[in-house]
Amino acid sequence: MSEGWGKEELLASVVAYIEMQRKERNGQPFIKKHYYEDLAAKFGRTTKAFEYRMQNISYVMTLLGRNWLSGLKPAKNVGANVATEIEAMIAQAEGKQYVPIAAFEIEVREVVKKKNLLRPEGNYRPAITSSTITQYKRDVAVKAWVLQHAKGVCESCGQPAPFCGSDGQPYLEVHHVRQLADNGSDTVTNAVALCPNCHKAFHYSENSRELVSCLYERIARLVRE
Ligand SMILES: [Zn+2]
Ligand SMILES: [Zn+2]
Repeated sequence: MSEGWGKEELLASVVAYIEMQRKERNGQPFIKKHYYEDLAAKFGRTTKAFEYRMQNISYVMTLLGRNWLSGLKPAKNVGANVATEIEAMIAQAEGKQYVPIAAFEIEVREVVKKKNLLRPEGNYRPAITSSTITQYKRDVAVKAWVLQHAKGVCESCGQPAPFCGSDGQPYLEVHHVRQLADNGSDTVTNAVALCPNCHKAFHYSENSRELVSCLYERIARLVRE
């Protein structure tokens, strides 16, 4: 994918993507092709080009551990520069604070492919940056109930927690099936207790969507959002 996209058309693509995701979540009907056609008419590229750009946006979403829009399978050939722009635009479109993650991850993936990397010096005193991040206020009662209900067993793989925490309790993490970032609710019908492996897989696995479908099928208390 060419890096030669203007900011305006990139932002318009991100805004369209976020709008479609919102509609999908709210069960409102929409036709992806109409969005591509509008963008194509406005910016003079093919509808295919916009569809592909949307798949790049899906890829950036996956690097953030977020969900992507159905039918737009992540396409990973997006450079770090464009990913940075996309990531900032997602935050802008959602009215959230921008915290750069995707570009760093893309650069890591580019470098890791090179042969015989020299052992880096690293930084003995890494520079710090600070930023305001958007966090959700979670209910103690919900997390406690889900953990107690799980009895130390991961609700995805069915295995006991892999270790006990410093409090001596089996270590599980509570995950929101419809993520809070996607306007999911903080309720026991949307939260599960997972082992750390499964938790990462729900955010970063190429099969994250299948994992979610399996959960909904197996766990009766969950309600699709
Ligand atoms: Zn597990
Ligand atoms: Zn999670």
